[in-house]
Amino acid sequence: ILEVKDLYKNFYNKEGEIEVLKNINFTLKEGEILTLLGPSGSGKSTILNILTKLLQPTSGEVNLKGNIGYMFQKDHLLEWRTIMDNITIGLEIQKKKTPENISRVEKLLKTYDLWDFRNMYPKELSGGMRQRVALIRTLSVNPDILLLDEPFSALDYQTRLLISDDVYKIIRNEGKSAILVTHDLSEAISMSDSVVVLSKRPATVKSTYDINLRQNENLTPLQTRKVPD
Ligand code: ATP
Ligand code: MG
Repeated sequence: ILEVKDLYKNFYNKEGEIEVLKNINFTLKEGEILTLLGPSGSGKSTILNILTKLLQPTSGEVNLKGNIGYMFQKDHLLEWRTIMDNITIGLEIQKKKTPENISRVEKLLKTYDLWDFRNMYPKELSGGMRQRVALIRTLSVNPDILLLDEPFSALDYQTRLLISDDVYKIIRNEGKSAILVTHDLSEAISMSDSVVVLSKRPATVKSTYDINLRQNENLTPLQTRKVPD
């Protein structure tokens, strides 16, 4: 569903030219979760920004089938809007507030135990629930591929474990392909089908692993549970 070929990216700053990506190659198959694992500053977000076409590569190719949804490190929920409004505002901004998308959102909120919270404000939700709302907002336009840039880094360890498990189940349940960026090795292993290990800057692909341990394959709807704040 996505193929990245011989990707290079250089930036120019005060000191001159810096090489950030060097010969990056990987393939994301349909329905697969792939993790980009690499140290801080290696170029992981730069790769995602190239995939969304926010940035142009210096050279190389991205072959992509389908459309992309992006989930950020912070949830970026608007505190003065209800949960439902936060999601529908997203659709409005993208000019995609169609009856089909609205009913998709309603279904997602019901399936993932957020329906009863739809008229509440973000501050009334735990950190983990907020991340679920952010994921539903990303899913609202029915993207084929999800890009998740360290979506759990703002959460404490305990919440992180629960939420990464929830997010994993939601991606699987919805049959999406995803690229997850993290520098957490255990998260990479527990959440993905393949792991692409990047070196420090300039990022090169050090190794690629296939993970055949499909853990957590119980894809029933999430149980309502208390997630610590
Ligand atoms: P982190 O884990 O900390 O989020 P990262 O792997 O996502 O790091 P990037 O944000 O992709 O790293 O940045 C890689 C390198 O490219 C860094 O050294 C950064 O300073 C540099 N860089 C990123 N964007 C630009 C830009 N627009 N102009 C110049 N340099 C940039
Ligand atoms: Mg980053």
